[in-house]
Amino acid sequence: MFDTLSDRLATVFSTLRGKGRLTPADIDATAREIRIALLEADVALPVVRTFIAAIKERATAADVSAALNPAQQVIKIVNEELVDILGGETRRLVFAKNPPTVIMLAGLQGAGKTTLAGKLALWLRGQGHAPLLVACDLQRPNAVTQLQVVGEQAGVAVFAPEPGNGVGDPVGVAKSGIEFAKSKLHDIVIVDTAGRLGVDAELMQQAADIRDAVDPNEILFVLDAMIGQDAVNTAQAFADGVGFTGVVLTKLDGDARGGAALSVRQITGVPIMFASTGEKLADFDTFHPDRMASRILG
Ligand code: GDP
Repeated sequence: MFDTLSDRLATVFSTLRGKGRLTPADIDATAREIRIALLEADVALPVVRTFIAAIKERATAADVSAALNPAQQVIKIVNEELVDILGGETRRLVFAKNPPTVIMLAGLQGAGKTTLAGKLALWLRGQGHAPLLVACDLQRPNAVTQLQVVGEQAGVAVFAPEPGNGVGDPVGVAKSGIEFAKSKLHDIVIVDTAGRLGVDAELMQQAADIRDAVDPNEILFVLDAMIGQDAVNTAQAFADGVGFTGVVLTKLDGDARGGAALSVRQITGVPIMFASTGEKLADFDTFHPDRMASRILG
C-alpha cells in the first residue's frame, strides 16, 4: 500500500546521508520533499501541514552533538511523528462489565463490513469469546447470506431476520439479536449494518436508530483505505451522523496510495483499532501505529 511513499521518503533520506550537520536550507528542502511525498500519497492537507511543522521544528532543534547523524536524526523524527499521527498507542477493545459486549459496524457499502464481521468474530473466538453475528444489513441483496457464509467460515453463530426476528426492520433484528445473545450466553454481539455507495441521510438515520436501540460498547467505522481523499469526508460524515469509537482500515493490501490511512486518526480524533489486509478471514490484526510507521519507513 505504501510502496510509493516509502520509496519517496527513502530518496529524501538518502540525500541527507553523508552530511555532517543540517543547515536551515537542508531542513527546508527536506521538509518540502516530505510534504510532496505525503500529498502525492493522498494524505489530507491539514494532516500534512501539522506533520511538516512538527518535523521542521524538531529537526531545527535537534541536538547536533547527538550520537545520531543528521540523516538518522531526521528518520527518527519522521518515524516518531508518523507514530503520533497514527495514534501513538494501540487501542484495545473495551468489553462491557455485564456481557454481552455489543460491537456495531458502520461504513459505506463495499468498505468490507461483512467480511470484517467474520474476521472479528474469528479473532475473538480465538481469544476464547463466544461471539454472535447479527445481520442488520437488510439493504444490500445477499448481505444476510454473505454474513451467514462468513459466520460459518469463522465457526460462529449468526442471528438473521426471519419471521419473528423482525423481517425488514433492522432495528427490530438488532434488538432481538441482543436478546438472543443473552439467552444463549454469547458474550459478544457484532452487529453488521447497511451501507450505501455514498453517504446518505436515510442510511445515517438507520445506523443511528440501531445505535440507540442496542447501546453499543464500541462502534467501529470500517474504512476502505483505497478510497483516497474521499475517506476524510466519509469519515467526517459518519462521525457527525452516527459517531464511532474506533476505526478499522480495510484493504491495506491494495496498491492505492494509502493517505486515508494516514489521515483518519488526526481528522476524526478516533483511534484506528484494527487493520484488514486481504479477503481471507485470517487477514486481520490489531492495528499497531509503531509497526505501521516502521513499514512505511522501510
Ligand atoms: P460491505 O459492503 O461493507 O459489507 O463489504 P464486503 O465485506 O462485502 O466487502 C466488499 C469487498 O471487499 C468483498 O469483495 C471483500 O472480499 C473485499 N474485501 C474486504 N476486506 C478486504 C481486504 O482487507 N482486502 C481486500 N483485498 N479485499 C477486501
